[in-house]
Amino acid sequence: MSNNIAIAIDGPAGAGKSTIAKLIAKRKGYIYVDTGAMYRAMALYFIEQGIGADEQERISKAAPGVDVTITYKNGEQIVWLNGRNVNGLIRTEEVGKMASSSSANSEVRKKLVELQQALARKESVVMDGRDIGTCVLPDADVKVYLTADSHVRAVRRYEELRAKGQECDLDIIEKDIIDRDNQDMHREISPLRQAEDAVLLDSSSMTIEQVADAIMDLCDQGVK
Ligand code: C5P
Repeated sequence: MSNNIAIAIDGPAGAGKSTIAKLIAKRKGYIYVDTGAMYRAMALYFIEQGIGADEQERISKAAPGVDVTITYKNGEQIVWLNGRNVNGLIRTEEVGKMASSSSANSEVRKKLVELQQALARKESVVMDGRDIGTCVLPDADVKVYLTADSHVRAVRRYEELRAKGQECDLDIIEKDIIDRDNQDMHREISPLRQAEDAVLLDSSSMTIEQVADAIMDLCDQGVK
């Protein structure tokens, strides 16, 4: 039996999972595992190969041969796609949309879930995604389902993009978020849902600090 601790944070797009998970990982001294980045790296590969979002057969064929790995530098996760650091390429809406389509594919999920489980065997982790509490780490010590109103999530994303100097449209961002949630919640394999033993946190009117404190309290109560 390993003594590693696992904290699982699931929820829809833009709920603040990665910000919160990074903060908790830092406070606890655990590794932060951003599983969405792995699905995004896979998606980038499919886009670069000219594979369309609806070409499930081509995705199934290509996925087993794609090498996605992650390493850490100064606490930051680096995602490698076939030996190339792709951190700077995976944060676009195009890649996010493709990731939402290709993540419904069983070959893609099989490969990345194995990688995620291997990481959690080696280290104590705070892992965020869509299926961590339900599928990847069903025995996680603490499970959180972090959500927020779709409009609040869209405004947060809008402000984030504007801060980076990118032009964007709030209505389009909100529509994209709702579409992506629908796709993630209604896929056949590992759909996004709250695990039965996960604690629901709605961050619509909470600050980052308040959410982080609430999760730290859960850790104090729940960690064996
Ligand atoms: O969290 P992020 O927006 O980076 O995730 C991109 C996409 O990857 C999600 O919309 C979802 O379809 C997929 N994903 C997943 N399972 C995870 C993490 C992400 O299916 N554990």
